[in-house]
Amino acid sequence: MSEPAYLWAPPPVASLPVRGRSERLPVNRIFCAGRNYHAHAVEMGRPVDKSMERAFYFTKSPQTLVPSGATVPYPPETKDYHYEMELVLVVGRPGFRVSAERAHELVYGYACGLDMTRRDLQLVAREKGRPWDLGKDIEQGSVCSEVVPMEGVVIEQADLALQVIGTTRQHSDVSKLIWNIREIIADLSLYYHLQPGDLIYTGTPEGVGAVVPGDHLVGRVEGVGTVELTVGPAE
Ligand code: MN
Repeated sequence: MSEPAYLWAPPPVASLPVRGRSERLPVNRIFCAGRNYHAHAVEMGRPVDKSMERAFYFTKSPQTLVPSGATVPYPPETKDYHYEMELVLVVGRPGFRVSAERAHELVYGYACGLDMTRRDLQLVAREKGRPWDLGKDIEQGSVCSEVVPMEGVVIEQADLALQVIGTTRQHSDVSKLIWNIREIIADLSLYYHLQPGDLIYTGTPEGVGAVVPGDHLVGRVEGVGTVELTVGPAE
């Protein structure tokens, strides 16, 4: 079958480098868990009662991905651009209605990510019952490190931290996730046919805050790696 003809060149495939491989990992979708550490839910004024609530998610376009180490302009239409340091789970096998017991079968590996957020716009959307897209789906707003292959591995415990110009702003442990890796995969697979290349940003711990042009961010997850971002001047 011949390739279809397009009116203009199709957009490039969003992809991430993979540790130890020359091939890049093609990214399918970006899912993000909301309010998945208790102390962060409290600082956002929305504590979570796991016995009464289900996990919730939002999405960011794969086109918002930016590689670790990039310098990104301070984005438009915000005065409160926030970092959120997160462990990113990379799906490597398809799955629909996957049990928590079998969730590890979908894991390809992990990465370190920054779910950058126009907090002012997100909070307006939240209060007015509008979608979060303008607050979350930000050009160059999904920073991601190289992917570390760890097939079938469930990270249950790992130190996670973020420094802004050398000062620690976030410090927690993956063991404090409200919905853990197995639960996130199982629950998200009730809504979506998960596919290879789906990224799941698993949520941020407490300590989120605003950046200003010139800031240099370094996030780490024990056993995974680091992610870096420099905030440039506004365009
Ligand atoms: Mn987040």
